[in-house]
Amino acid sequence: MQVLHGIGILSLVWSWPACQNARIADLPSVDDLGAPRGGALARVLLHLHSPFSWDACDQKPELDRGECRQNLLDALCENRIDLAFLTDHPDRMASTPIEDLTLRGPDVDLVSDSNSGLLLGEVSSCRNTHRSWIAPGLEGTVMGLGMSIHLDSADQTGREELYSQSSAEWAQRLQSEAGALAWMPHPESKSAQFIHDSGVQGLESFNLHALLDPEIRHSSLRLAPLDSLFGVLGFAFDPFFDLNSDSMFLHFLQAPARFIERWNEVIELRNSLGESMNFPAWGASDSHEYLFPQTGSDGRRLDVHARMTRLVVNHVWVTERTPSSIRQAIQEGSGWLVFESLGSPVGMDFSLQSTTQGQTYGPGQTLEVPAEQSIPGLGLTLTVTLPRVYRESTQREGRAEAPRLRVRVFHLSPGQTTEVVLQEAWDESVSETITLPGTYRAEVSMIPRHLRGVAAPYSERALLEFPWIQTNRIEVREASSLPGVMRTRRRR
Ligand SMILES: [Zn+2]
Ligand SMILES: [Zn+2]
Repeated sequence: MQVLHGIGILSLVWSWPACQNARIADLPSVDDLGAPRGGALARVLLHLHSPFSWDACDQKPELDRGECRQNLLDALCENRIDLAFLTDHPDRMASTPIEDLTLRGPDVDLVSDSNSGLLLGEVSSCRNTHRSWIAPGLEGTVMGLGMSIHLDSADQTGREELYSQSSAEWAQRLQSEAGALAWMPHPESKSAQFIHDSGVQGLESFNLHALLDPEIRHSSLRLAPLDSLFGVLGFAFDPFFDLNSDSMFLHFLQAPARFIERWNEVIELRNSLGESMNFPAWGASDSHEYLFPQTGSDGRRLDVHARMTRLVVNHVWVTERTPSSIRQAIQEGSGWLVFESLGSPVGMDFSLQSTTQGQTYGPGQTLEVPAEQSIPGLGLTLTVTLPRVYRESTQREGRAEAPRLRVRVFHLSPGQTTEVVLQEAWDESVSETITLPGTYRAEVSMIPRHLRGVAAPYSERALLEFPWIQTNRIEVREASSLPGVMRTRRRR
């Protein structure tokens, strides 16, 4: 994607000796974050770049002496990522054997998952003994998540061209021939019609690269182009090396409305065509290691993968933590994205209970109302279980103040592209009776008062409200809502 043109001034590296401010601790195991609905959580990254992308590693990946690769592995270990879907650009990726795109090496074993057909690198070198899977993939106009083979082309140039296209036929080939999920990156700069017609199975509901890039901010997100860079500037030129680099995000993190607007537009387009309104979206860091090469007070570059990938992580709900289950959950939209630099959520859940059916539905699932029944007759209650912040997320001396949490539930009706807030509460779980068709999703935002010490001397930043969790959707669909249209039933 576009290079950060406005960043030139930041590239003057300030070379004072670092006083090695302590880093934030490794993220906790997902086993410590709860087991909603009797299942388990998995941490998943999608859309990030290895040294096999031209714009990774300060745009000189060919000069990487292993540091850029190692930083990526460290990020997977420290953030305890279960599965990372790499998305490399075609220029280098298309000419690299697919096995090498798993980053295989002495510290990464090449494995093949028989259930999912996924070709994986398994990171076996984490200091904290975590094991992380890496799935190779592609970012052209469309992303291919988890490719098990390269697709054929007569020559190298042909393959690069092949990988850069977008069409429903191409998305289908990515799925049926390469075994990948076809996903839309950077939806902020594409129309709903384009996204729909490209045949992808889902999109991004947040992209960190877009939030930081002045050009994308200006042209697609309707945000002041340089505001995020102003926030980073203080950390890039930190003369006393006493700012905590891991608090940098408090100066720019926000969830631009454009992402959700685009998601809603695609959903309504699908609805108008008789397709399911349940269309999954996940968060993406799109981490490259070329935005902010300056060294932070922890001795690491400001945009080191560990810092950037932690900012937006996907918590995926699975019945078992295997590559095939995780892949299936990504495809269905089972789970939520978490801005985990703010802290790890413990006990989070979003679900829909039907008393008459005796069933519970989670994000990514669709309740199809039987033809002979009405929605009120199903006794539907939507619940957001308020999470708490994992205790180590504060990890500062003394007792930290508790963060404040705002829970909101949004409803998107068939025929609409604008959601309404159905329910809202501070610092408590919410339940709401459901009587209307459409999709429902939840957000939890946070005033991270527990980070006041970390944020010093900008402690007032910790008194602002930040996005923390955004769920995928639960759909309630009436039989009569799609007259005369063949309906594709969702499994589960
Ligand atoms: Zn990007
Ligand atoms: Zn990218």
